[in-house]
Amino acid sequence: MSTHRRAVEHIRRSYAEIPGDAAPRLAKATSNLFRFRDSGKTAGLSARDLDEVISVDPETMTAEVQGMTTYEHLVDATLRHGLMPYVVPQLKTITLGGAVTGLGIESTSFRDGLPHESVEELEILTGDGRVIVARDDNEHHDLFRAFPNSYGTLGYALRLRIKLRKVHPYVRLTHVRFTDADKCMLAMQEICESMEHDGEPVDFVDGVFFGPQELYLTVGRFADRAPYTSDYTGMRIYYQSIRQRGRDWLTVRDYLWRWDTDWFWCSRAFGVQQPMVRTFMPRRWMRSDVYRRLVALDRKHGVTARIDRWRGRPVQESVIQDVEVPVERGAEFLEFFHGQVGMTPVWMCPLRASSRWPLYPLEPGKLYVNFGFWGMVPLPRGRFDGHHNRLIENAVHELDGHKSLYSTSFYGRDEFWRLYNGDAYWPVKREYDPSGRLLDLYDKCVRGR
Ligand SMILES: Cc1cc2nc3c(=O)[nH]c(=O)nc-3n(C[C@H](O)[C@H](O)[C@H](O)COP(=O)(O)OP(=O)(O)OC[C@H]3O[C@@H](n4cnc5c(N)ncnc54)[C@H](O)[C@@H]3O)c2cc1C
Repeated sequence: MSTHRRAVEHIRRSYAEIPGDAAPRLAKATSNLFRFRDSGKTAGLSARDLDEVISVDPETMTAEVQGMTTYEHLVDATLRHGLMPYVVPQLKTITLGGAVTGLGIESTSFRDGLPHESVEELEILTGDGRVIVARDDNEHHDLFRAFPNSYGTLGYALRLRIKLRKVHPYVRLTHVRFTDADKCMLAMQEICESMEHDGEPVDFVDGVFFGPQELYLTVGRFADRAPYTSDYTGMRIYYQSIRQRGRDWLTVRDYLWRWDTDWFWCSRAFGVQQPMVRTFMPRRWMRSDVYRRLVALDRKHGVTARIDRWRGRPVQESVIQDVEVPVERGAEFLEFFHGQVGMTPVWMCPLRASSRWPLYPLEPGKLYVNFGFWGMVPLPRGRFDGHHNRLIENAVHELDGHKSLYSTSFYGRDEFWRLYNGDAYWPVKREYDPSGRLLDLYDKCVRGR
C-alpha cells in the first residue's frame, strides 16, 4: 500500500502540472479503444506504477488492484489462489479501470453482469484534482454509480477493491448448433434463466453467429478433471473449433484467454490464420495487443486506404462495435445486421445487470445479448463514412438496446444525452469536475477529442 500511496501522489502531481488548455490523456502502454483521437492539444498523464495487484485475500475473496492493472496480470495473481474476477474481459491488456469506466463483458455476464457490478470500492482522482474513495454506501455514492460508462470524463480509477469467485482447474465446453436465430435466442434465454443445460449447472455462456443458418451457443462448466485439454495458442484456432466439434476441454486459464490469441477472428486480416504464416509466427506475437498496435499504425499512415484507392476498390467503413439488445429482439437484430451490413462472424454474449447504472441504463434483471462485430465494410456508392454505423445506431435504439462507446459514434448531441442519461451525468460532472478540466462524454466519445 505504501508503494501505491507514492504512485497516487505521483499521478496527482502530474495532473496538477498539466497546462489548463490541454486535455489530459492517460499515458499507458496499451489501449483497446477504437476511437482514434483528433489531433487536438492533449497532455499525457503519467500512470506510472499503477499497474499492480496490491493484494488478494482468499478469506474475504476480494482483491485490491491498481487501476491500470491488465486483466492478464490480475488473472495470474488470482488464479494462484484458485480465484478469478467475476467477469474477465477477453482481451489480455484490457485494464480493470478501463473495463469499469468503459464497460466490459464476458461469458459469465449472464449471471454476474458487467465488471463494475463486482466492484466494492473505487479510489478516484477526480477532475478537480482530489483523490477520493467512492462506495455505494458513502457520500460519493453518486460518483460510484456514474463511473461505469464515464470513460475517464469524471476522473481516473487508481485503486479498486473487487470481489472474486472460486474456480476449478478445467472448463468443459459444449458447442450447440442452431440453424435458426429465433431458436438460438430462445435456447439462450432458457439456459440463462434456468442456469442449466441438459440438466447440469452452467458457469459460462456465449455464442457465435456464422450466418443465418449457422449459429452456435457455447456452454461452459467448471470441472475438477479433464480427459484431455486443447491448445488454441499455437496452430489451432479457437473460433474455428466451434464449428468442428461438439465437446472440448480447456484449462481455466486457456478458457479465459480463448479469444485473445486470434483477437476473436480479427487476426484473419493479418494473414495469421494461414498455416504457413502461423508456423513461423512466434507465439508471443499472437496476442490482441500486437494486432491492435498494427491497426493503429495502419490508421496513422493510411496504408490500407491507399492500397484500396490504388486498386480502385470501394472506400471501406470501419464497423467495430459492441451493442446490447434484449434477447427477445436478438433475432430481429441479426436479421437487420446480416441484411444491411453482412459482416460475419458476430460474437453473441448474454448479460444481465443486477441494478441500474445511470450512464448505461440497462433494465435490471432483464436479459440482453451483446453482439460484437469488428471489421471493415465497403461503402455503397454515394454513401459516406458513418453510413453503416448510423444504421446500426438507429436499429439498436429501435430495438430498445444500447451501444458501447469504446469505438466510433455518430449521434447528434441531444440524441446522445437522451440515450446516455445527460440528466444523471451533468450533476456528477459539475460536482467532481466543476471547471471541465476533463472532456465531457459527448466530446470524448462522439466528437473524438
Ligand atoms: C475489437 C474490440 C473488442 C472488444 N471486445 C470486448 C469484449 O468482448 N469484452 C469486453 O469486456 N470489452 C471489449 N472491448 C471493449 C473494452 O473493454 C473497452 O474498450 C475498455 O474500455 C478498454 O479498456 P482499456 O483498459 O484497454 O482502456 P483504454 O483503451 O486505455 O481506455 C479506454 C477509456 O477508458 C479510460 N480509462 C482507462 N483507464 C481508466 C481508469 N483507470 N480510470 C478511468 N478511466 C480510464 C480512458 O481514458 C479511455 O477513455 C472491446 C474493444 C475492442 C476494440
